[in-house]
Amino acid sequence: MSGADKRDDPRSAIARTDEVLADARLAAAGAGLRPAVVKAAVNNAQKAARLGMIPIDAVVETALAALPRSPTSLRPVLNATGVVLHTNLGRAPLSRRAREALDRASGYVDVELDVATGRRARRGRATIEALKAAVPSAEDAHVVNNGAAALALVAAAFGQGREIIVSRGELVEIGDGFRLPELIASLGARLREVGTTNRTTLRDYEAAIGDDTALVLKVHTSNFVMRGFTASVPVNRLAGLGPPVAVDIGSGLLAPEPLLPAEPDAESMLRAGATVVTASGDKLLGGPQAGVLLGCREAIEMLRRHPLARAFRAGKLTFAALEATLLDAHIPVEEYLRADPGRLRSRAVQLANSLRASGVQAAAVISGGAAGGGSAPAVELPGWAVSLPASMAAALRAGHPCVIGRLERDRCLLDLRCIPAESDSELESAVRQAASRIPSGG
Ligand SMILES: *Cc1c(COP(=O)(O)O)cnc(C)c1O
Repeated sequence: MSGADKRDDPRSAIARTDEVLADARLAAAGAGLRPAVVKAAVNNAQKAARLGMIPIDAVVETALAALPRSPTSLRPVLNATGVVLHTNLGRAPLSRRAREALDRASGYVDVELDVATGRRARRGRATIEALKAAVPSAEDAHVVNNGAAALALVAAAFGQGREIIVSRGELVEIGDGFRLPELIASLGARLREVGTTNRTTLRDYEAAIGDDTALVLKVHTSNFVMRGFTASVPVNRLAGLGPPVAVDIGSGLLAPEPLLPAEPDAESMLRAGATVVTASGDKLLGGPQAGVLLGCREAIEMLRRHPLARAFRAGKLTFAALEATLLDAHIPVEEYLRADPGRLRSRAVQLANSLRASGVQAAAVISGGAAGGGSAPAVELPGWAVSLPASMAAALRAGHPCVIGRLERDRCLLDLRCIPAESDSELESAVRQAASRIPSGG
């Protein structure tokens, strides 16, 4: 077919599928992808050309651009929000050892097999042992998919058809419209609310306890603070009431953290007499998304054998990353929480100076960080940020790497707390790129 014919009939001028697929660049980019994926990208590009949405000679480029360039479309992000546990950014970033563990666990592994005897073994047993070692007062432990599943399992196993007593001050919405009281009720337990929003006393619990009481539940008010005329009952007093006591600590601190004095930890709650403690794996524990249950032997055994335990079963990747996290000395969440303000300041000053030298309106400013993810809501972590014009925020989000800052008044703050120091130069070049793409950045 001559060039003149192609111009006469635009439809026939569009390269045929087999011609496009034979293009060397497309063949190279599509190697390793399912043929159907590459073909779909080509067909979509041809369709766009037919509809006049792209030039007819741009089919190969368009198909190329549509092919996935990495195994997952999830984009790595530089978290410059200053919020250590950001639910929209996947909460806890895993440690290097935890990432290695994930890689190792990704093939066939002995997650539920004793290779010495050839028999079935307890799933994730080394992770359970690591949890027990980290929380000496826990006789046993169990792992499920997330903190909400851990609480659901407790509510179902203890409370089905009976009453669970909870303070009115602890009826928490954890986010995105999900409310713990509704979760508990959906599992067939009756919620018996006691006290008032601001004050609940031991007498309130005592008056509510009866033959139908299955459990006293204490929920950490992890994402809000109440001040003023308030009262609540500590776990050691609840433990004397008779019924088993479950404590949802939320954030997953296994031992006390001096930096966050108001955050309850699993060891202290068990010592105070809790029967079982539930927590998330990917909040202050700093590990993968998981729900951790710690407590006395009989309670954990009952939870493990409950039918719902199978529905909430954690995967081998979760067990592997959680075990690594429990043994690792370098947990990013801990390091970001404890980041030294003096060091953050010198990094911010250096970055701002260097950016200003190339014409970007940058300044080092004091910045208050947060634990986030529904942890320690009252604690502001002193830190430093590079302040940029707010107009740069969108360009920073669209860049490579993607940078998520914090908008404050008319500034876009890049808080360095959750940026590893070795990524400062990467951050700097991302800011330069963004500045070059918008006129007001320079
Ligand atoms: C975060 C939180 C949960 C939910 O845990 P997920 O791991 O997000 O499912 C439940 N209870 C409390 C008190 C929490 O803070």
